[in-house]
Amino acid sequence: ERVSQHPLITVRTGTTVTALKGFVGNFTARLADGAEFQHGVIIVATGAGEYQPREFRYGVHPRVLTQRELAARLATGAGEAAAPVAGRVVMIQCVGSRNAEHPYCSRVCCTRAVRNAVRIKERWPDTDVWILYRDIRTYGLRERDYQRARELGVVFVRFTAERPPEVTGEDRLQVRVVEPLLGQELVVAADWVVLSTGIVPDRAGNAALAQLLKVPLNDDGFFLEAHAKLRPVDFATEGIYVAGLAHGAKSMDESVSQALAAAARACTVLEKKALTAQSAIAEVWPERCVACGVCEAICPYSAIAVEWQPYGRGQRRYAKVTPALCKGCGACVAGCRSGALDLAGFTDQQVLAEVGEL
Ligand code: SF4
Ligand code: SF4
Repeated sequence: ERVSQHPLITVRTGTTVTALKGFVGNFTARLADGAEFQHGVIIVATGAGEYQPREFRYGVHPRVLTQRELAARLATGAGEAAAPVAGRVVMIQCVGSRNAEHPYCSRVCCTRAVRNAVRIKERWPDTDVWILYRDIRTYGLRERDYQRARELGVVFVRFTAERPPEVTGEDRLQVRVVEPLLGQELVVAADWVVLSTGIVPDRAGNAALAQLLKVPLNDDGFFLEAHAKLRPVDFATEGIYVAGLAHGAKSMDESVSQALAAAARACTVLEKKALTAQSAIAEVWPERCVACGVCEAICPYSAIAVEWQPYGRGQRRYAKVTPALCKGCGACVAGCRSGALDLAGFTDQQVLAEVGEL
């Protein structure tokens, strides 16, 4: 509400960006409804979704829930018919995470399971709560929730990726799990089964946006920052930043920290009246360029593109450098097989002359 009513913030929902041009400090975006607006920076915060389980009888048996559904029922104070307040609750971890399709850890599911287990045990101490896990990853201060769950008598049983639990039963559910240390199968009767579902990216949406912004995705389908330690909220392309689940699975407090960092990085651009381009940037020799596009493909900063441009009395396609984006890395100069690019101050003649003097 504070955002939508802020006089300096315009919120556009239910639409998509269909075209984007420009560079840091001078972007122009067009929306699906035809509206256009100018902006100096972009922060990608498109989020991610929750894995929709197809396993463990979810959607088939009414007492198989996800952790989010369980939390919603606990929050409304629903009675025994709607929430697991009696009998035995069995939670299954890593549903839709750390498998072939989604090889990463979703980072929030262990904490969510342990906190829901604690809430159940604190309100209904006689309810039996079991958590079937591969590894408990309640990292940082979340460890306290894990310790609290153990103190309250929550039962933790490990399973391996090779032998995941099985859920069967019509009225009362049955969960079969092989405990790897015992090497034996345990058969646990359950009144409720709760699935700790993971976080999944919108692969198609992220791919389309990544193509529009000319920024990379990682193998999991999340947006990839320029450098995990040195530029954790930047893309290689100047003026574009990332925050939250768009960048990968993380908790709410981590998303907020990352959003603050991205906003701070964006302010370093927005506070300036003018941006100074590098002096050592790539320069094009139009008469030599054959518009092969190799430079465009290899430039890590999306600073060069083959476009229709004035040439002689007419027009033709050849490479064009955006000085505000070029970092002078020289990759395009080395890659151009037509010798159509030079780096200002580092032309072949200049470099050879320097070498000759050594
Ligand atoms: S690689 Fe060289 S020839 Fe090919 S488009 Fe770029 S500048 Fe032109
Ligand atoms: S010098 Fe580097 S940053 Fe500049 S256009 Fe060439 S490849 Fe891109």
